[in-house]
Amino acid sequence: MSRIEAPRDEDTGNLVDRLLTGLPAGSVLSDPDVTASYATDMASFCPAGAPAVVVLPRTVEEVQHVLRVATELRVPVVPQGARTGLSGAANATDGCVVLSLVRMDRILEIDPVDRIAVVEPGVVNATLSRAVAAHGLAYPPDPSSWETCTIGGNIGTASGGLCCVKYGVTAEYVLGLDVVLADGRLMSTGRRTAKGVAGYDLTRLFVGSEGSLGVVVRAVLALKPEPPRQLVLAAEFPSARAACDAVCAIMAGGHVPSLLELMDRTTVRAVNALTGMGLPETTEALLLAAFDTHDPAADLAAVGALCEAAGATEVVPADDLAESELLLQARRAALPALEAVKGTTMIDDVCVPRSRLGDLIEGIERIAGKHRLTIGVCAHAGDGNTHPTVCFDASDPDESRRARASFDEIMALGLELGGTITGEHGVGVLKKEWLAREIGPVGLELQRQIKQVFDPLGILNPGKLF
Ligand SMILES: Cc1cc2nc3c(=O)[nH]c(=O)nc-3n(C[C@H](O)[C@H](O)[C@H](O)COP(=O)(O)OP(=O)(O)OC[C@H]3O[C@@H](n4cnc5c(N)ncnc54)[C@H](O)[C@@H]3O)c2cc1C
Repeated sequence: MSRIEAPRDEDTGNLVDRLLTGLPAGSVLSDPDVTASYATDMASFCPAGAPAVVVLPRTVEEVQHVLRVATELRVPVVPQGARTGLSGAANATDGCVVLSLVRMDRILEIDPVDRIAVVEPGVVNATLSRAVAAHGLAYPPDPSSWETCTIGGNIGTASGGLCCVKYGVTAEYVLGLDVVLADGRLMSTGRRTAKGVAGYDLTRLFVGSEGSLGVVVRAVLALKPEPPRQLVLAAEFPSARAACDAVCAIMAGGHVPSLLELMDRTTVRAVNALTGMGLPETTEALLLAAFDTHDPAADLAAVGALCEAAGATEVVPADDLAESELLLQARRAALPALEAVKGTTMIDDVCVPRSRLGDLIEGIERIAGKHRLTIGVCAHAGDGNTHPTVCFDASDPDESRRARASFDEIMALGLELGGTITGEHGVGVLKKEWLAREIGPVGLELQRQIKQVFDPLGILNPGKLF
């Protein structure tokens, strides 16, 4: 692979001039104060460079122009959505073109017969959900950041969310893509039909590729009929292990909750401190279960009984939809609340077989004690996907070192328990060395060869994944 180097200062003017031959002036930002504000996503402690220029295209042709210029001048290109990512996957590299897709935000089509939506990449997740709801349809993948994150970013990271325990993750909803390749060619993958197996599944390959193989400029997404509104139950447990036992009993019992989330005591307290919501602070773990079935009260009663059998000290079904929504808001506030504890967080994303969830959470408690750190755990418990969140003071070098050490030990434990280093946030720059450990040398070599096929010059989001 040819080596890409940051352009010299005198080259940046040429880059901007070349970009302006195919883009309106307002779409090319080169003021260093402005470009610097596009340098990182939400991940702490990830290296980031200074972009040479930020481009905000509105059309597919403009994206193609950017990639052609970048290929010609051998300049790296970093695709970005809303920059809510948690692994540094959207971080700039020195001298790069930041290609922000946020202005390509049109919903092009909603088709209730084919049950699809066709969207541009900058559409915000919640905007799409509301638009399809008006047609009696649902787009289920719902990251907690859904009010800000974009569909392009969701595809880039293969994101999950709260209701994925029942409805699955982004990859299961992406039927087809239009992608601009590194050299500016436009390629369509996949289908808009209910079925289709023609050739290799390049659509799936792009999902989770973190902007390293091409730029998504249009997506065909599968929709579901809108389910009834969900009712939520909250169960308090005397230990995280007991809450995890309840999760296992619920799943082994054949129940299909639309949400099964866990917050440990640290997280509950942090949410109370941030929002004043008054969640029960004496509990060691709070489990939220929800059903969007036609008789959610009956389903909640059955699951409530399983929680009690696992040791729950209190089981409280929400009285109505408003109370249910309040509990979901508490869960969605978990990451910002933990960030407020010490000012900085490093958010792990380890996913284990749900039968090992209790072992993982107990192990995290040991790691927190060993490093004298606060680590709050919130989890998409029904998926075994945890977000152990290391809270630390970034201005304290020793605490920062211990934070990184504990972050790494949690991933090692996850792998030991048969899990993965990332259930939904991606690898980015934060977990690069861990990807190699998880997939091994042969897997890594093949992944690099795939990258080479799509991006022989290595200009697309360099330095991410591996
Ligand atoms: C408070 C909070 C809660 C969160 N909760 C969740 C959660 O529940 N589940 C979850 O999965 N994540 C969660 N996240 C992480 C984040 O929101 C997701 O990873 C989201 O999918 C990122 O979308 P984005 O638009 O911000 O993308 P960005 O962060 O801008 O980009 C993410 C990646 O996608 C690539 N990319 C962006 N657009 C394109 C494109 N058009 N073509 C090709 N590549 C592209 C980028 O290069 C980068 O590699 C949370 C984040 C925060 C801050």
